[in-house]
Amino acid sequence: MRSEQRIKGVGVSPGVAIGKAFLFGVDELKAPPKRIPPEGVEREIEDFHLAVSRAKEELTKLKESSYGEVAGIFGAHLLMLEDPVFLQEIEEEVRKKRISVAHVFGRRMEEIISHFQNLDDEHFRGRVADIRDVGARVMAHLLGTERDVLAKLKEEVIVVAHDLSPSDTAQMRKERVIGFVTDLGGRTSHTAIMARSLEIPAVVGTGRLSEGVEPGDTLIVDGQKGIVILSPSKATLKEYEGIRARLIHLEETLAGLRELPAVTPDGRRVELSANIEAAEETEEIARKGGFGVGLFRTEYLFMRETLPTEDEQFGVYSQVVRSCGECLVIIRTVDLGGDKFVSRFRLPQEVNPFLGWRGIRLCLHNRKFFKVQLRAILRASAYGKVGIMFPMVSDVEEIREAKKVVEEAKEELRNQGIEFDEKVQIGMMVEVPSAAILADLMAQEVDFFSIGTNDLTQYCLAVDRVNPNVSYLYEPLHPAVLKLIKRTVEAGHRRGIWVGLCGEVGADPAAVIALLGLGLDELSVSPVAIPRVKLVIRGTAYSLAQKVAKEALEIPTPQGVREYLNSLLKNNFPQLNLVHPR
Ligand code: PEP
Ligand code: MG
Repeated sequence: MRSEQRIKGVGVSPGVAIGKAFLFGVDELKAPPKRIPPEGVEREIEDFHLAVSRAKEELTKLKESSYGEVAGIFGAHLLMLEDPVFLQEIEEEVRKKRISVAHVFGRRMEEIISHFQNLDDEHFRGRVADIRDVGARVMAHLLGTERDVLAKLKEEVIVVAHDLSPSDTAQMRKERVIGFVTDLGGRTSHTAIMARSLEIPAVVGTGRLSEGVEPGDTLIVDGQKGIVILSPSKATLKEYEGIRARLIHLEETLAGLRELPAVTPDGRRVELSANIEAAEETEEIARKGGFGVGLFRTEYLFMRETLPTEDEQFGVYSQVVRSCGECLVIIRTVDLGGDKFVSRFRLPQEVNPFLGWRGIRLCLHNRKFFKVQLRAILRASAYGKVGIMFPMVSDVEEIREAKKVVEEAKEELRNQGIEFDEKVQIGMMVEVPSAAILADLMAQEVDFFSIGTNDLTQYCLAVDRVNPNVSYLYEPLHPAVLKLIKRTVEAGHRRGIWVGLCGEVGADPAAVIALLGLGLDELSVSPVAIPRVKLVIRGTAYSLAQKVAKEALEIPTPQGVREYLNSLLKNNFPQLNLVHPR
């Protein structure tokens, strides 16, 4: 029996999970050296050829649906699997030693990887991920492990992984994955955001935890404190079962607010809407007491091997719009790039992807692709109230160009006699400091702003939102970020447009007190956070919130702001102390 171990990470999705570990993708190239009887050798080799040809088929498809540098990468992957010397060496070793081909192949791939890792040339070292990807593809076919294993789990588990892509996270079902832990990641990585929206307690940035966990080990994931407890003692288990029970009780209390509006005791109303990533989540919004969608992240539609067609996109958008009835649905045009990158998608590798070809930049370079999405969104606008929102806008020209493409899409639809709402609202995310600084000029171009503090924080403070080494510096309540929020709200209001906020800080109850006071008209948070935010709004007078915001703006350090707001929360909402994620 191992003794209890506590590992600190970053708590990214509140709640407590107690369960058994399931290791995901940790050792994709490892397979035990199984002995093969003499009569099984040829079969083993046939299996190998089959696995290689399936992997090649997948790569060919990917290559065909990509272009430029990325198609080149898949082409290089293919070449590796077409190298007769390499394939023959593996066959020979299986014949000679009579051990399973998965073991021989996996070990050979690891040798190649370590060879590349030790090279001085950065270009070659950079190929390691590609080689691992090719190896993992073949291994998945050899071992019959599918890449969508997370969608097919049969029992409740806590997923432990070195890293999870947003598309891995998207496969998780809450009934099976009761918590997850990753070595990498930060509070606002898209994987963390997915965890919150799925209401799965999660801790990321745990360093090398995945190396020390065995399948089936008992784990506690404390998503509030950001702690993972491996092999907990009996006393710890008892303590955490108590916490879990209290959390359930609080959830019941919050459920009582569902039908009530987000209004302060002195009458200031805030639109409380939801951030969603999939059409299915709209049911959750009403269940949690929210109204409409403040941010529909459409990236997840694009994280697959082929691009979604206009009709497919229209199907999804119109489903969301219909199910929100009279409420506004803000659909953000695709924000690929940054950490929303999947190896399957056709993006070039960049040294600084967060500063690269991302969001509106990528769309304006691919207008045909962009227009497909705009047409789909416009068509959906015929079924309700829709806003179109552009991500990563950094100057006025970009917004003008994006609007031109909207106009072209409208014109096409008119000519084709296809219905859409002529008065569809056009808005932009304020998430690049230049947009906040120029908010008064930007405001003349759009109908609304939505402040994206996840990116605004990373770009304002020069702190990568997914890098655990600098997560201690990542603070959306940093006085510099607060000043940009204030500036944006004031500029928007001067120009007569409404200003919302859809970054994760809007779900932090302590922050909500200050955000309310800064005069935001709307807060959009993941459905799971809606009840807590509503509780804070309904329990804080607007006049008090304004005083708090003013004071917070005078505090020189991020720690000072955080301490000030946390202590207010503790005094005014002691019941929330259990669950707020920091
Ligand atoms: C943000 O940047 O705050 C935001 C809401 O967008 P995303 O997290 O999708 O980048
Ligand atoms: Mg953003």
